[in-house]
Amino acid sequence: FCCLAQDFDFFYLVQQWPGSYCDTQRSCCYPTTGKPDTDFGIHGLWPNYNDGSYPSNCDPSSPFKQSMVSDLISSLQRSWPTLACPSGDGSSFWSHEWVKHGTCSESVLDQHGYFKSALDLKAKINLLQILMGAGINPDGGSYSISSIKQAVKNAIGSTPGIECNVDEDGNSQLYQVYICVDTSGSNIIECPVMPSTDKCDSSIEFPTF
Ligand code: 5GP
Ligand code: 5GP
Ligand code: 5GP
Repeated sequence: FCCLAQDFDFFYLVQQWPGSYCDTQRSCCYPTTGKPDTDFGIHGLWPNYNDGSYPSNCDPSSPFKQSMVSDLISSLQRSWPTLACPSGDGSSFWSHEWVKHGTCSESVLDQHGYFKSALDLKAKINLLQILMGAGINPDGGSYSISSIKQAVKNAIGSTPGIECNVDEDGNSQLYQVYICVDTSGSNIIECPVMPSTDKCDSSIEFPTF
């Protein structure tokens, strides 16, 4: 059955902590639209298989078209800001995510649906509020991975994957949070498989931003 849109089993909604992207040796650049909010930002909504592998770049004939998401631009700027250098308005980050990941869920979500689903999920979850409600604050302090996972599980009913990176001084820190979502792009599920990047020290830093 050649050329039908590729299937997938679930999505990871991946959110990044800007403080942890920016305080590494590589540093970061704020978007042309200004410093992002002190909040998690969307990295992507990634189709995945239950065995941990994933499809990518599924439809070269479907480029990112800003005109298809024109009603979402201000939400994207706020909730899906780019921190890569040089500074940009976000469109190249959104384009990268659409081309690499979004085109692999086109059987379910068109371009507008893909970005709208990610934005709606982020709005529904409010990760920073969940963590702060459990006393886990972006204050440069150290927190146990198990307390972070438990706080999210208590709030959304499913255990997240946590990805760490290291700051300039070599400290392991909270970088990305992976939440599993069903193939419709709207319902949170238990993760069929944890991301392979889920390998933090037992205690990690939550830096300021
Ligand atoms: P890294 O090598 O930095 O962990 O990942 C690079 C990129 O590969 C990610 O930004 C993402 O596009 C893709 N990627 C890494 N791990 C996963 C995964 O578990 N599932 C999916 N769908 N994509 C992933
Ligand atoms: P993935 O890791 O999803 O394949 O790729 C992320 C790509 O988007 C990288 O090439 C990176 O340079 C670019 N990018 C632009 N803005 C951001 C950002 O804020 N965070 C991350 N992780 N990547 C970004
Ligand atoms: P991409 O090739 O895919 O630029 O990025 C490769 C990896 O480096 C990704 O895991 C992304 O998160 C990270 N990365 C890319 N650009 C930057 C940057 O400007 N600053 C930081 N801290 N990390 C970056």
